[in-house]
Amino acid sequence: MGVPFRIVLYAADATAATNAARAAFQRIAQLNAILSDYDPDSEVSRLCHPKVAGQPTPVSPELWFMLERSQALAKTTGGAFDVTVGPLVNLWRRARRHQELPSTNLVREALAHTGWRQVELDAATHRVTLRGPDVRLDFGAIAKGYAADEALRVLREAGIPRALVAAAGDMAVGEAPPGQPGWKVEVSVSDATNAPPPKILWVHHAAVASSGDIFQRLEIAGRRYSHILDPRTGMPLTDHSLVTVIARDGTTADSLSTAVSVLGPTEGLSLIEATPGAAVRIVRAPPEGHAVEVRESRRFRRWEAR
Ligand code: AMP
Ligand code: MG
Repeated sequence: MGVPFRIVLYAADATAATNAARAAFQRIAQLNAILSDYDPDSEVSRLCHPKVAGQPTPVSPELWFMLERSQALAKTTGGAFDVTVGPLVNLWRRARRHQELPSTNLVREALAHTGWRQVELDAATHRVTLRGPDVRLDFGAIAKGYAADEALRVLREAGIPRALVAAAGDMAVGEAPPGQPGWKVEVSVSDATNAPPPKILWVHHAAVASSGDIFQRLEIAGRRYSHILDPRTGMPLTDHSLVTVIARDGTTADSLSTAVSVLGPTEGLSLIEATPGAAVRIVRAPPEGHAVEVRESRRFRRWEAR
């Protein structure tokens, strides 16, 4: 998944802690071997092999779960969240490496292979059909949250409920550390001028995910392009947004943070309010000298340290 995972846990003794942590990391490695688009031998890469196009292919329960959740979110967001962004992601990754914008023709071509309707799920048999040889799946916006959920579950089942699993900006937490109201989480700060100060949250039995363009971006002629793309236009986001979602699990938090980034504050807030237990904070600094905009959903304050 291209990022280091970190586990923090409280256990009765060192042996129990080491064994449980090892099992949790193994589960993360297992999911990486299924979902990574960097690994040419991963289950996803094999599913996207041009020779497999058009054929109903049985997939693992994990890949099925990711596809089911991703397709459902693609439908509710009108394609703002879409794991078929692979061709576009590759195009813009290359652009970042070469510090050069792709031509409109190349964007148009990548767009032609993008869209959630390119993936067909057969719920009865758990078979998946990709409609063309150029369809590429990318779970970069949802898999880290899922892996954090799974690692946390492994720890819980090993008798360790007080734990935190974090992968870059995504984390899932169980019971609070001893004597604490929760896990203390500092919400990343936007690097925009006049950005508001950081916020401190206390979280337990929940997940926190952040999406933004602070760490991964392409800058050309003074304009910053995010690693998050709008699959409807083929273009990266340019509104300098930093979106932090709190949800009941990592899969939900991770996917929603990306979805809200693309949808923008108005539609994004409605999506969050409609999701049981979810909350969001959006900090945006659109270009062209507009003021920094901060929006929070109703449930966000519930998690804030006072
Ligand atoms: P995140 O950091 O969780 O917001 O995920 C961003 C990653 O998800 C990118 O690096 C891409 O691999 C992928 N991605 C980019 N745009 C989208 C999108 N609109 N829907 C789904 N995945 C995306
Ligand atoms: Mg995400």
